[in-house]
Amino acid sequence: MSVERENSIEPITEAALQAQIERQSMEVDIACVGFGPATGGFLTKLVEAWNANPADPAFVSKMAPGMPLQVLCYERADDLGAGVSGVVTKARGIRASFPSLNPGEIPMAANVTSERVLYLLDPIGASRRSSVLRCADLALRLGGRVLVKDHAFELPYTPDFLNKHDGLVLSIGQFNQWVASQLMASGLVQIWPGTPVCAPLRKGDAVTGIRLADQGVDKFGSPGEGYMSGMDVRARLTVVGDGPVGQVGHALDTDEKPPQDWALGMKFVIELPEGGDEQLSPGTVWHTFGYPEPEIFGFMYVHPGRLVSIGIFVPSWMHDPSRTVYRYLQHYIQHPVLWRVLKNGTLRSWGAKSLEESGRRGEPSLSGDGFVRIGEGSGSTNMLTGSGVDEAWTTGTQLGEAVLELLRADRPFTRENLAATYEKRRRESWVERGAREAENARNGFHRGFVRGLLGMALAGYTRGRLSFNLDERRARHQIRAFSLGTAESRQLNDAATLARSEGRALHDALLTVRGWPEIACDGRLLISQQDALLIGGKVQAAPGFADHVRFRNLQFCAECDEKTCVAMCSGQAITEGGDGLPSFEREKCIHCGGCVWNCRHENVEFRAGAGGLHSGEN
Ligand SMILES: Cc1cc2nc3c(=O)[nH]c(=O)nc-3n(C[C@H](O)[C@H](O)[C@H](O)COP(=O)(O)OP(=O)(O)OC[C@H]3O[C@@H](n4cnc5c(N)ncnc54)[C@H](O)[C@@H]3O)c2cc1C
Ligand code: SF4
Ligand code: SF4
Repeated sequence: MSVERENSIEPITEAALQAQIERQSMEVDIACVGFGPATGGFLTKLVEAWNANPADPAFVSKMAPGMPLQVLCYERADDLGAGVSGVVTKARGIRASFPSLNPGEIPMAANVTSERVLYLLDPIGASRRSSVLRCADLALRLGGRVLVKDHAFELPYTPDFLNKHDGLVLSIGQFNQWVASQLMASGLVQIWPGTPVCAPLRKGDAVTGIRLADQGVDKFGSPGEGYMSGMDVRARLTVVGDGPVGQVGHALDTDEKPPQDWALGMKFVIELPEGGDEQLSPGTVWHTFGYPEPEIFGFMYVHPGRLVSIGIFVPSWMHDPSRTVYRYLQHYIQHPVLWRVLKNGTLRSWGAKSLEESGRRGEPSLSGDGFVRIGEGSGSTNMLTGSGVDEAWTTGTQLGEAVLELLRADRPFTRENLAATYEKRRRESWVERGAREAENARNGFHRGFVRGLLGMALAGYTRGRLSFNLDERRARHQIRAFSLGTAESRQLNDAATLARSEGRALHDALLTVRGWPEIACDGRLLISQQDALLIGGKVQAAPGFADHVRFRNLQFCAECDEKTCVAMCSGQAITEGGDGLPSFEREKCIHCGGCVWNCRHENVEFRAGAGGLHSGEN
C-alpha cells in the first residue's frame, strides 16, 4: 500500500524564512498559557491583591517601566466559556477565593442538595462483563426490587471520599466566563481568546516566554495570503495552565515524567421537559458505575432551569480498542434509571475532553527557571474523590500567593525561588494531602474492574495507606492489539467492512458488531454525531491556522489494525480514508485530545490549534 501523503512533507518556504526573521516580539512580566480554572485561580489571587492596593510594590512592571505589572493570558479556544466539564465540586478553594459566593450569580450554578451512587446493571446484555461480575449481577437481581430498581442498585450511602456535600454544581463554561469578566474588569490582566500558544521560548533549560501560533497559513503551516507570524512574547514568568493535553506543558516534559493514565470525558447538556415524570431539584448529583461497560464511570448533575449535565469517562485502562464515546453515551442515557428522567428531553449541547487520570503519580516537574505549572497538567486532579476543578483552582491561587511574595521581595522567578514559595505552599496544602491519598487508588483497574473497585475502596477508607501495586504501562500499551485470528480481530474486520459498505463511521460500526442495538434517533435527544457537531454553538475552525493533528509516520498507520485514533475520535474528525489511512478534518475537531493517547504507536502529533467546540453551557 502506498503511504505517500501530503502531510508527510512540511515545506519551508522563502516566505516562512523571511517571516521568521520578521517575527514580532513584545515583553511582559507574566504570560499565562490557557484559561481554565487553574489560571482563573491564579489571576483571581493577583487581582484580589491589586484591588486591595494598586500601589503595592508587587504591581510595578519591570518590563514596561512606569506601567503596572503586565499580565497577559492566551487561550486557544475562541471564547472563554469553551471549557468542558461536569462539574460537581466541594469548592473548598473556590469558596476561599469568594467567601460570599452566591451560586445564584453564576448561570447554571447550584448548591449540592442530594447525592446518590448507583451501580448500573446491563439491561441489554451487550456490555463486556466478566463471569464474576455476571454472578454479582445475578445475585443482586435475585434480591428483587428491594435491591434493584430500573436495573440499578443504589449504594446505601455515598462513601465519604466521594461525597460532595456542601459543594456546588457548576457549568465550567459559565464559571470560567463569570471569573473572566471579573478579571477583565480589574484592568490588571488581559485575556486573549482565539490565540493558541505554539511553544515555549527556551534559553538552555530556562523558559523566557512563549511563541504564538502563526496565522494566515495553509493546513500544512505554509504561509499564504494574510500571513502573520506568531508573536514572541517574552516574559519574566511563564505560567503553564494549558490543561492535560496542552502543547506548552508537553513541550516542557522530560523523559523522567512518569507514565500517565487517561480518560476521555464526554457530556451532554440536556433540557428536561416541563412537568416530566420525575422532577429533580437543582443540585441533585448522581454518580454511576458499571454501564455501558463496567469500566465506564458516569455522572448526572442537575442545574437550575431544568438543565442536566450527564456524561461518562472512557479510561485508557479499559484496554478494549473500541472506544466510541459518543455512541456509548447514547446507550448510557437510555439506561432505564436515567431514561426515566431524561426521555422527552432535548439535547442542548455536548462536549468532550481528556482527563489526566494519574494525578500526583503522573506529576511532572512543577517549576523551572522562568516557568511554572498549575492545574491538571501539573498532576493536580484527584481521581479518588473525582475532583479536578477545585484542585486546579487552588494550585493557581497558591501560585498567586507565591508570585506576590516574590514580586514584593524583588526576587527573580528561578526554579529555586518558585520551589521555595509555590511548591512549598502546594506540598503543605490539602491538595497535596488528597493527592497522596489518591495516588494509588486506581491501580487495581489495570488488572480488572472488580479489583479496581476493591482498590478504590481500600485506598478511600484507609486514606491511601493501603492500595494495590501499579502495573505501570503507558496508556498506549494499555490498548489491546487486534491480533489476527482472534474473535476480536474478526469483529474489527466485520465492523470495518460494514462501515465501508454502508458508508457509515467505524465508530458506530464497532459497537453494532459487538451487539449494541442501533440508536433510534429521534432528532431531539438522540441525534447522529454529525448532527451533534452542528448544535450547541457548533464546532468551528477559525480560518488561517494549520492542521493541529498530524500523523507522524503513515507507514505505521498502513500497518495498524486497530485504528484506535478513528474509533476514539470525539468529533469524527479522524476517519479512515479510501486508502486505509486516517485522515483529519479540522472543521470537526473539538480538541478533546483523545487522539494523543489513543495510538499504540504514539503516532499522533497534537499541535496548538484554534477553534473547537463552542458552547457556553458545557
Ligand atoms: C466530562 C468531564 C467531566 C468532569 N467533571 C468534573 C467534576 O464533576 N468535578 C471536577 O472537579 N472536575 C471534573 N472534571 C475535571 C476538570 O474539568 C479538570 O480537572 C479541570 O478543568 C482542570 O482545569 P485546568 O485549568 O487545569 O485545565 P483546563 O480546564 O483543561 O484548561 C486549560 C485551558 O488551556 C487551554 N489551552 C490548551 N492548550 C493551549 C495552548 N497551546 N494555547 C492556549 N491555550 C491552550 C485549553 O483550551 C483550556 O481552556 C471533568 C472533566 C471532564 C472532561
Ligand atoms: S492509531 Fe496510530 S498508527 Fe493507527 S491509524 Fe491511528 S495514528 Fe495511525
Ligand atoms: S481529532 Fe480532535 S476531536 Fe478527534 S480525538 Fe483528536 S482532538 Fe479529539
